[in-house]
Formats: sequence, C-alpha cells, structure tokens
Amino acid sequence: MKRGTKLYSILKLKCPRCQIGNLFNNPGLFVFSRILEMPDKCSSCKQNFKMEPGFYTAALWISYPMVVLIFIPLLILGFSLHSLNGFFTIIYPFIILFSFMLQIPLMRISRAILLNMTIDYTTNR
Ligand SMILES: [Zn+2]
Repeated sequence: MKRGTKLYSILKLKCPRCQIGNLFNNPGLFVFSRILEMPDKCSSCKQNFKMEPGFYTAALWISYPMVVLIFIPLLILGFSLHSLNGFFTIIYPFIILFSFMLQIPLMRISRAILLNMTIDYTTNR
C-alpha cells in the first residue's frame, strides 16, 4: 500500500498528516490491551491528536454504519438459512464470535477515519 493516501493512514493506523507516527500507543488492529490509548501528539510531526474534548465521540457515528454494513447481510444470511436446522445453530454463534473479533479493529479504524476527515496528508511540515 502506498503512503500518501488516506486509505494507507486508516488501515495502517498512522498519523493522517505525516503517515509515519502511530495513532495508538499499542499499534496494530488486533490488540487486547490499551485499546484506545493514543499519544497526545504525533511522534514524528507533532500533530495534535487531542483535538478537543469529546472529539472521538463522533467516531461512534462512523463505526455504526460500518457495523450495519457488515452485520445486516450476515443476519439476512442467518435468517435465510433458518429453515436449514443445522445452519441456524452454526451461523449465529459465528456472527456473535465475528462481532467480538471486529470490535477493537472497528473502534480503531473509525477513529482513524475521523482524524483523516479532519487532517490532510502533507509533505511539508
Ligand atoms: Zn504525524
């Protein structure tokens, strides 16, 4: 993936301005500790990540449509397979497990999307 695109910054969880510094103290999509702990400023370009109090509350409005887009088709699939007895007992535990697995990556990606909506990539710092 090429640096300089917003997709790079979002999926790699990098600073939207320089795309070098990490957005989270514990980098990576699948982590189990310090999930939403972010540095105050970018380690590379000193971009402020604590924009204003309650800034990341808006990330809820980004993660919600992502969850709807992912899980509505799965639920429809589950309901359509309801008539097949075995699938009903298999697909719903899978959906619940899948939702727990995606919880942390979706929270982190929605914060990265929110920051990328407000901060642009720049090469002159
Ligand atoms: Zn930066």
